[in-house]
Amino acid sequence: MNYTASADLFKQAKEYIPGGVNSPVRACRSVGCDPVFITKATGATLTDADGNEYVDFVCSWGPMIVGHAHPHIVDAVQQAAASGTSFGAPTPTEIDLARMVVEAVPSVEKVRFVNSGTEATMSAVRLARGYTGKKVVVKFDGCYHGHADSFLVKAGSGLITLGIPGSPGVPEEIVKNTLSIPYNDIDTLERTLRDEDLQIACVIVEPVAGNMGCVPPKPGFLEKLRELTREMGIVLIFDEVITGFRLSYGGAQQYYNIMPDLTCLGKIIGGGLPVGAYGGKAEIMNCVAPDGPVYQAGTLSGNPLAMTAGIATLKLLQQPRFYEQLEEKAAAYADALKRIASATGIAVQLNRVGSMMTGFFTEKPVTDFDSAMQADAARYGQHYRQMLGRGIYLAPSQFEVAFISAAQSEKDLEKTLKMTEWSFKKLLEK
Ligand SMILES: *Cc1c(COP(=O)(O)O)cnc(C)c1O
Repeated sequence: MNYTASADLFKQAKEYIPGGVNSPVRACRSVGCDPVFITKATGATLTDADGNEYVDFVCSWGPMIVGHAHPHIVDAVQQAAASGTSFGAPTPTEIDLARMVVEAVPSVEKVRFVNSGTEATMSAVRLARGYTGKKVVVKFDGCYHGHADSFLVKAGSGLITLGIPGSPGVPEEIVKNTLSIPYNDIDTLERTLRDEDLQIACVIVEPVAGNMGCVPPKPGFLEKLRELTREMGIVLIFDEVITGFRLSYGGAQQYYNIMPDLTCLGKIIGGGLPVGAYGGKAEIMNCVAPDGPVYQAGTLSGNPLAMTAGIATLKLLQQPRFYEQLEEKAAAYADALKRIASATGIAVQLNRVGSMMTGFFTEKPVTDFDSAMQADAARYGQHYRQMLGRGIYLAPSQFEVAFISAAQSEKDLEKTLKMTEWSFKKLLEK
């Protein structure tokens, strides 16, 4: 493939934008190549600046569950744009999307829209602290909740770690109120949450971890988390920015039938436009300004274009058997991948929940951050570059999810499987 136009754009981008990108993973450093610049996308096909086409498994990191440039969404957004793009005043579309979210997500009684997943988690934690009058946030190693200061805490080494900032610019004073404990470790969880001296305000969790690659919750983990937080009066926050409207129309909470106190949403609810949301029990949500004292605001929050894209997307997800079909497609694809791995003799742990999956290049099961880190990222890098060269667009990191969307055709997936087989064989060559 020819990448000259992308190479030239990357050179220009680096002059004006740090690293040439507006979000670090896009720079593709961990897979050892330069990014391609995308100029167009329809359905499951991305087109880059050189005219190369790719089958897309990144799906804009989750939002594009019905594919790119879906005509219903494009029409709705175009119509909305013609009526004005932002008013800084209430609009009817906000109520429509809010009603749809409340009807869909079982534990959400009231919802506030923001502009990104980061804003949603940051605001949910502020609310949990305001509501409980306590300070400490518990998170899990390898779970990502956006780039707000409180969440940028390095993972500990198996035991409870007091927060050490994971980034310069984040003061110790801030992250000392964040505890990061291992995912799927029920004993550490119980020991931590029962410690009343810790003054825990909330626990935030990805009900299926998606940001260390796909790591499902062990049976009993989310149940225990719900039981302990309820008993100890700790606010339980599900970060469903990926899982919301992906694992089912009601998200992971419906999929596993476990109800958090607060839920963070993003990605899919914006249908590809910038939207986040946090919602939950009315009793807690009523603490948000102007009804309550916890301040949170946004000039573009509830933006009519973004709300319209969200509504159009959710309507498409209401089609009968949408999630069943996605599950069938993902299951068949995952089975085929596993067959290819065992036939070629490449060690892959394929973790999958619904339409989220990651093939980790390792022989041992991946159940948490430490085991995820055992995966061979260099091997993934080679696989990534080989697949890109054959028209398959995977996430540019071993520790991300591949998404199945409604738009990938049987032909797309067949092609991907064929290229995977070729790539796996090539990995063994040297
Ligand atoms: C993507 C993501 C976020 C952050 O959302 P942004 O829109 O990128 O700010 C938060 N939590 C989870 C689980 C995510 O996957």
